[in-house]
Amino acid sequence: MIKRSLFNEEHDAFRDMVRKFIDKEIAPHHAQWEHDGLVPRSLWLKAGAAGMLCCTVPPEYGGAGADYLFDVVVFEEMARSGFSGPGFMIHCDLVATYIKSFGTEAQKRQWLPKMVTGEAIGSLGMTEPHAGSDLKAIRTKAVRDGEDYVISGQKVFISNGQCCDVIVLATKTDSAAGAKGVTLFLVDTSLPGFRRGKNLHKLGMKAQDTSELFFDEVRVPATAMLGEEGKGFELMMTKLAQERLAQAIRSATVAETVIDYTVEYTANRKAFGKTIADFQNTQFKLAELKTEAVVGRQFTDKCIESFMAGELDAVDAAMAKMWLSNMHCKVVDECLQLFGGWGYMWEYPIARAYADARIVKIAGGSIEVMKHIIGRQIFAQYKPSRDTGTGVAGINPA
Ligand SMILES: Cc1cc2nc3c(=O)[nH]c(=O)nc-3n(C[C@H](O)[C@H](O)[C@H](O)COP(=O)(O)OP(=O)(O)OC[C@H]3O[C@@H](n4cnc5c(N)ncnc54)[C@H](O)[C@@H]3O)c2cc1C
Repeated sequence: MIKRSLFNEEHDAFRDMVRKFIDKEIAPHHAQWEHDGLVPRSLWLKAGAAGMLCCTVPPEYGGAGADYLFDVVVFEEMARSGFSGPGFMIHCDLVATYIKSFGTEAQKRQWLPKMVTGEAIGSLGMTEPHAGSDLKAIRTKAVRDGEDYVISGQKVFISNGQCCDVIVLATKTDSAAGAKGVTLFLVDTSLPGFRRGKNLHKLGMKAQDTSELFFDEVRVPATAMLGEEGKGFELMMTKLAQERLAQAIRSATVAETVIDYTVEYTANRKAFGKTIADFQNTQFKLAELKTEAVVGRQFTDKCIESFMAGELDAVDAAMAKMWLSNMHCKVVDECLQLFGGWGYMWEYPIARAYADARIVKIAGGSIEVMKHIIGRQIFAQYKPSRDTGTGVAGINPA
């Protein structure tokens, strides 16, 4: 089997610590959190104290200044555990990254130290009831009033929405300017006029809160703007590759883990006097799935390397997200089949993995949007070399 070569001994030691943390602080409580639809703030504080939040934040803002692989270890171990409640990935990989990359010195000092300790929880507010894939169609508006902006509007499907203290919020400062009218703000959720709506009931990821959020003339100082006015869409585009890579990392890890559960289950479950693993169908199925998981892991690791070298482009990230999401959903579906009826029971991790999986083809850019990005680039690079006379330019009929 091809070995992974990304991690060193420090990452391995950190991984051991993260696994122990999950066993002690998350595993015993996750079923209750699924029931509550929410992870308690005390877990965030414990994760912060253990050094698991926002590992790449520089020491001057309270972080460890570690390399991206430490964040990767946390994402992988959370995915491997099957406990999808804690929304660490959005907090660390998205919100902290936006602030680190685009924030002013004052914004970094205000939010990053508290995000590292878990005292402040971050969320990303882009989607609205009528605008998801087409983000430039958002309607939440921010209107300049003296030294402030006044924000009015609504968001939906916001992960960490029930517990967040700071939102990277996409607004329109010029409703006629399309993408060029989008501006980001860092909104403190203690401000008057901010209101959390329902914690939405979901098919999966039941312990992770996902909310409606309302902004009723929330007055923020102009200094809460993230980046420049009208540049919000551009900023979001620059961070999408990182978000999509994180999702691919999760998918690669879940696929491997689910295959492991299935090997164990089928090697022990009997039917017709044999184990389920003795059937050729089981071996062939797992042979196919394992091969796809190994291929997916290699591509994901290559993308991590490219990202760390500053070379991961939007198309590579879209390919990783699209392919790994499809593979993830296929693996959980086909593995569940090998569990028979027990695979449909919530107590079995495979059932939760199945329910949790479906979102990966939708959130953070749907499969169809990924195909657009990839397809656009294929044709952007294509230049007809000559007219072949067949009506199909550039294709040699000979
Ligand atoms: C559990 C969960 C967590 C989420 N967390 C967050 C969060 O933290 N922050 C946030 O801002 N958002 C979040 N989202 C929102 C998520 O990013 C959106 O649901 C996603 O972008 C799709 O938007 P939509 O739901 O409006 O679907 P639509 O955009 O209405 O799409 C509907 C269907 O049409 C397809 N489609 C759309 N445009 C095209 C096109 N041009 N060509 C072909 N097909 C197309 C889509 O692929 C999809 O299949 C979350 C969603 C869920 C369910």
